[in-house]
Amino acid sequence: MTRRPNILFIMSDDHAARAISAYGSGLNSTPNLDRLAQGGLRMDRCYVTNSICTPSRASILTGTYNHVNGVTTLDTHIDNRLPNVAKHLRTSGYQTAIYGKWHLGEGKAHEPTGFDSWAVVPGQGEYFDPIMVHPDGERTHPGYATDIITDMCLDFLKARDRDRPFFLMCHHKAPHRSFEPHPRYRHLYADGKLPVPETFDDDYGNRAAAAEAAKMRIRADMTYKDLGLVQPEGGDEVGELLVPYLRDRKVPQLKPGGELRLMDALTGQVHVFTDPQALALFKYQRYMMRYLQTIQAVDDNVGRLLDYLDAEGLSDDTIVIYTSDQGFFLGEHGWFDKRFMYEESLQMPFLVRYPAGIAKGTTTLHIACNVDFAPTFLDYAGVTVPSYMQGTSMRPILEGKAPDDANDLAYHRYWMHRDEFHNAYAHYGVRDARYKLIYWYNDPLGEPGAYPGGEPPEWELFDCDADPYELVNRAGDPAFRAVFKDMLAKLDRKMAEIGDVPEHDSRKVLAALGA
Ligand code: CA
Repeated sequence: MTRRPNILFIMSDDHAARAISAYGSGLNSTPNLDRLAQGGLRMDRCYVTNSICTPSRASILTGTYNHVNGVTTLDTHIDNRLPNVAKHLRTSGYQTAIYGKWHLGEGKAHEPTGFDSWAVVPGQGEYFDPIMVHPDGERTHPGYATDIITDMCLDFLKARDRDRPFFLMCHHKAPHRSFEPHPRYRHLYADGKLPVPETFDDDYGNRAAAAEAAKMRIRADMTYKDLGLVQPEGGDEVGELLVPYLRDRKVPQLKPGGELRLMDALTGQVHVFTDPQALALFKYQRYMMRYLQTIQAVDDNVGRLLDYLDAEGLSDDTIVIYTSDQGFFLGEHGWFDKRFMYEESLQMPFLVRYPAGIAKGTTTLHIACNVDFAPTFLDYAGVTVPSYMQGTSMRPILEGKAPDDANDLAYHRYWMHRDEFHNAYAHYGVRDARYKLIYWYNDPLGEPGAYPGGEPPEWELFDCDADPYELVNRAGDPAFRAVFKDMLAKLDRKMAEIGDVPEHDSRKVLAALGA
C-alpha cells in the first residue's frame, strides 16, 4: 500500500488574503506563511459558502452547504451525530485531533466528534489566558491563545503513533475582533503609514441598499476596545452602545467644530482630533495595526509547526494547508468585518504545500469552495468520498490538472438578516470566473413585511474583471442583459443541484426584463 499523507490543516479566524505577504499586497510581512506559498500553491479564488465563522466551519467539516448541515447562522450549532471528515479519516486509520477554535457549539450534542484528541475554546474564546474545553472539562491556560493552541498541536505530534498518518486541525482564534496582540508585537505596523484602500471613502452609490445600511464602517462602528483605546466614563455622550446588552461603546465621529480626545490604553498617549477625515484615518491605522500584530503571532506559530515537520523529516509526506474561515474587509469600502459576498469577504486565503504532489511556487485562478475541503482530504487519504458530501475534490486544481474554468462556480448564501451588531442583509448568489450575481432577498417571497423596516429585493451584477472593486452594479444595465440571464441560469442550476430553495422567481424576473 502506498504511504498515505499526513494532513496538517491550519485555519485562522477572519484572516484576509491581503494580510499575507505571499498574496502581494505589501501590507505586512508573513515569512512563515510565505514558506507554504513558495513550497506549494497559492489559490486566488478560494471562496466561502457563507461568510461567517460558524457556518464556514460546518461546511469544512461536513463537505455540505449550510441548508443541508443546518448550521446557517452563529446560533445554529452543529448536530455532532452528523458524519464529518474527521470521522471518516479516523475510521480509515488516521490519528485525528483538533485544537483551538471550534465555534460549533458546546455540550454533549455539539462538542467535537471524530477526534482522538481535542481541546477547544468556548465560543469565540479569549486571546489572553484562555479557558479551553477538554473532553474531561474546562481549564484555564495561562498565556497567549495563538501560542497555546500551537503548543497543543506540537504535543500531539510529539506523542503520535509514528506508524499511522495524522489529520490535525490547528484552529487559531486570531485575528478575530477585538484584535488583541501579544505585547511582543506592539512595535509593529505602528507608524500610522499603512496604505489606505482606494475605496475607503466609498459612498455606496449604485449599489444595493445593503451596502449603505451595514454597520461595519471603520469611521462609525468601531469600539474603543477594538482600537485599544480607553473608553471614558459616561453614557451616550461618549459614544453609541455597540449593542444594548454590552457596555462597549463606539468611538464617536466628530461633529462640525468639535474636538475629540482619545487615550491609548497601553501607553496613555492622548490623541486630539478636530478633523473628521483625520479621525477616520486614525481609526483605520489603529485597527490595521492591531489586526496585523495579531497575525504576526499566527505567522510565527505556523513557523514553529513547519520547523517541527522539517526536523522530523515529515515535510515531504505532509499536506500542509493554511486558510481562514472567511475573508475580511481591511478598509475596502470603508469597512471592517465580513458577511457579504463582495470579494474581500468572500475570498478565503488558501496556501497548500505537498512536495510529493503539488508543484512549488505555483498559483491558480480556478474557483474552489470550503465545501470542497473535506472531499479533498478524503481523496488524498484514499478514502471514498461519501455521497452525502456536496463538494468535489480540489486535487485536479492543486496538481494543475483541472480543465478550463468554463464550469467554475461558487455559491454563497448569508442567512443572518439584519443582525443587531452589523445590520448586514441576507443574500445569495453565484460567482463564476468573470461575473458575480447577488440577490438581496430581504423580505422573502410571499412574506411581505416579514422584516419590518426591510428593503425590497434587489439584484447586483458585477464584472469582476473590469470592476474588481465591485463599484458598478450592472444588474439593470441593458448592455449586460445577456450576462444577467446567463448568471441567473447558473444560479438556478446551482440551487437546484445543491437543493437550496430560491426566494426569487426566475420566470417573473425574466418577464420583467422582457425576455
Ligand atoms: Ca471568522
